[in-house]
Amino acid sequence: MSFSSQVKNELCRIANDDKCCTLCEISAVLRLGAIFRTEKNGYVSTRIITENAALARRIITDAVRLFDFHPSIAVEKRKKLKGHTVYIAELIGAFATSVALGDMGFIGIEDNEKPVFSNIDQIAGGECCMKSYLRGAFLAAGSLSAPDKGYHLEITAQNPKEIERIKKAMESFGIKAKITERKNHRVCYVKEAEGISDFLNLTGAHKSLLEFENVRVLKNVRNNINRVVNFETANLNKTVNASLTQRMDIRLIEKKRGMSGLSDDLRQMAEIRIENPEASLSELGMLMNPPLGKSGVSHRLGKLHKIAERIKDRNPE
Ligand SMILES: [Zn+2]
Repeated sequence: MSFSSQVKNELCRIANDDKCCTLCEISAVLRLGAIFRTEKNGYVSTRIITENAALARRIITDAVRLFDFHPSIAVEKRKKLKGHTVYIAELIGAFATSVALGDMGFIGIEDNEKPVFSNIDQIAGGECCMKSYLRGAFLAAGSLSAPDKGYHLEITAQNPKEIERIKKAMESFGIKAKITERKNHRVCYVKEAEGISDFLNLTGAHKSLLEFENVRVLKNVRNNINRVVNFETANLNKTVNASLTQRMDIRLIEKKRGMSGLSDDLRQMAEIRIENPEASLSELGMLMNPPLGKSGVSHRLGKLHKIAERIKDRNPE
């Protein structure tokens, strides 16, 4: 099961105790996931098509509890969706024209069967309801990457107003959300692990939140180890490259001028460098007799370099 489905199943098990919150949650499901149609008799029918059995059950339970109304439910196998089972909850007839839809903020249907909803604030009782609204929106039209694959949470909607509301609702909880367009959809997305974590927390997906945080911590540890390894590799490369230049300098001096022309200090330095190509400056210093500090070694290698440069100036290739 995908992480997204796991989160949705967990969200569907949360008990909705307050009527205000239940209304906001179903309203969000309708706003983002339902198809509205005006029937010949003037009634509005509402169909919610979902692959998630738990969501279909939840809508029905909540509708019964809130309005004492039993929506019909159909199960269909759809070839279109790779033969996945699709559940259709249908809210029709009396239900649709009753106060129920109005209570959920439904105003009417515009041309092209576009439903019009009031601002969610007008039916929300407070913070509790905004959390439920976001939960419903995610259930109907959300998805979330598995934390080991990357951090990406998104909710899609066709209605630009609704996507703005989702963004605002997220921002009211301090979550940084952005909006983008994809084909004929708008997408509200969150890219920061922190924000996704907050979202799981406020919608009530606490089990999934723990799993998300565990993977996130492991990932951070791995990244830190990688950073240390990269840093050490870089340092090692620096030492190796420096050593190569120094040894080329010394070989040139030996070839063009002979080691006997060097002072005792420089000759000993040159010999130790050639014999210990992988040693760091401090290690070279300890091999000297008498031992020499890192800066002393650096100074002598610098002198050898200057001599080599002068030889090169006099013998241009
Ligand atoms: Zn509420």
